[in-house]
Amino acid sequence: MVSRSDDGQATAMPAHFFQKLASGVPGVLFTYWLSADGRSHRYPFVSHQVHTLFGVDPAALNENADAVFSVIHPEDADAITASIQQSATTGKPWSYRARLRLADGQYQWFEAHSVPERQADGSTLWYGQFHNIQHYKALEQSLRESEAEFSFQAGFQRLIARLSTEFINLGFGTIDQCIDELLRSIGEFFEVDRAYVYGFSDDYQRMTNTHEWCRAGVPALKDGQQDVVIEHFHWWQEQIEGMVSASRVVFIEDVDRLPATAAAERALLQEQGVSSMFSVPIRVRGRVTGFFGVDSLRQRTWRQDQADLLIIVSGLLSGALERHRLEEELLNQSIRDPLTGLHNRRYLMPRLEELLGRSNRRGEKFALAMFDVDHFKAINDSIGHLGGDYILQRIAAILTSQTRTMDVIARFGGEEFLVVFNALEQTDVPQLVMRILQSVRDEPFVFERQSVPVTLSAGVAGIDEFTATPATPEALIGLADHRLYLAKESGRDCLVDASGTVRI
Ligand code: GH3
Ligand code: MG
Ligand code: MG
Repeated sequence: MVSRSDDGQATAMPAHFFQKLASGVPGVLFTYWLSADGRSHRYPFVSHQVHTLFGVDPAALNENADAVFSVIHPEDADAITASIQQSATTGKPWSYRARLRLADGQYQWFEAHSVPERQADGSTLWYGQFHNIQHYKALEQSLRESEAEFSFQAGFQRLIARLSTEFINLGFGTIDQCIDELLRSIGEFFEVDRAYVYGFSDDYQRMTNTHEWCRAGVPALKDGQQDVVIEHFHWWQEQIEGMVSASRVVFIEDVDRLPATAAAERALLQEQGVSSMFSVPIRVRGRVTGFFGVDSLRQRTWRQDQADLLIIVSGLLSGALERHRLEEELLNQSIRDPLTGLHNRRYLMPRLEELLGRSNRRGEKFALAMFDVDHFKAINDSIGHLGGDYILQRIAAILTSQTRTMDVIARFGGEEFLVVFNALEQTDVPQLVMRILQSVRDEPFVFERQSVPVTLSAGVAGIDEFTATPATPEALIGLADHRLYLAKESGRDCLVDASGTVRI
């Protein structure tokens, strides 16, 4: 070992002994000397690894340490110098992690530890070592990444669990709110700019944006995306074909790079500011009824498994829409008459209650008419029960066409129908009922080439008539039914209202 008076080194052991000792250590052993004024520095001793690692000549370092400082990564250099200075001032051990440039030019992480010793002349001498910690750093990085991935997956699972719970607890009439909430959560989770659901028409020729979520500041497109004709978008038509027949996910990574055959689609998406998007089919009862999609307005990198994650979301939507459809059907079955498609008595009675309540509160008037087919037994006898059914269906169609959508039409019993005329001058009601009787009378009913004359009788009752006693659904229907009986008594094919029998 070189022995110098100004660095306080004094040892009896020869330098080659220390070099031999240091050669077995997987790093660089050193003594580092810094003058009191901080202007000159050198490595009185440095192991030969410094040459193998950094291509720096150890002998030169004995005179000047600059060559080692020049392999420090520029971003780490200033902080290292400052920390050495601080160790010299405080006398505390110095340790540091920094990137150093290897002989082949690439930077790797090193960690240094050393202990300072103040010299009589005010200079400082550190005894220490530094070694490569690149593999720890790499491990640290991959741990960080897998931790981030784990927390992403856990977050996604929590989100899906929450949304499924919401869909499971779905109440009647809340499906739209639930879908909106799903789009918002998914949109925020994946940091997209829009998330939406489209429905296809049965022939896949049109599509309608039914639900949409947009990040704040991103323009909504829903209103302009109603009943959009797909015909002119050939490329998109092909994508729909893929979604429908093969459940394929449509992924446009970069709208600007869509093929020439998708020029119309590209122009439209550019106009909407879309840069990248996914569309995932939604399947209800085995049939693709629409799709779920997300847009990004900026170029971004998507996850490798992005499509798979979106398929899970679309599966949730499919399940919810399927259940909703089933519930609507069940609801419809329970309030509609299967033969005529008209509402049934179960639907009618609460509606009447509701109308009566509104009439009490706001004075809204309404009247109802009870219809019964004349001599229906004879009709059944002449054209059979199926013929009778057909007649009932035709009468239902006439009632529907002769009334407004705001009116309630119900099949009240076998061949009895009830119509509630809403928000009308009550004096107009007999006119309307008469028109219905006339339409039925004039209708050429033919069943299996046998023509059948059909007439109706009707009893009319209005809410106005209940002044002394409070109106109830039963009292109103009872009055109409009584008048219907009077109409039958007075020869049928006529109506009876408060003024008595009216015949055309
Ligand atoms: P009226 O003029 O007094 O009303 O004579 P009507 O023959 O219509 O007498 P009534 O009301 O007693 O008979 C109704 C008949 O309607 C009896 C029943 O067999 C028949 N009917 C009830 N529901 C249906 C149905 O769904 N389809 C068919 N084809 N017939 C029905
Ligand atoms: Mg009858
Ligand atoms: Mg009857």
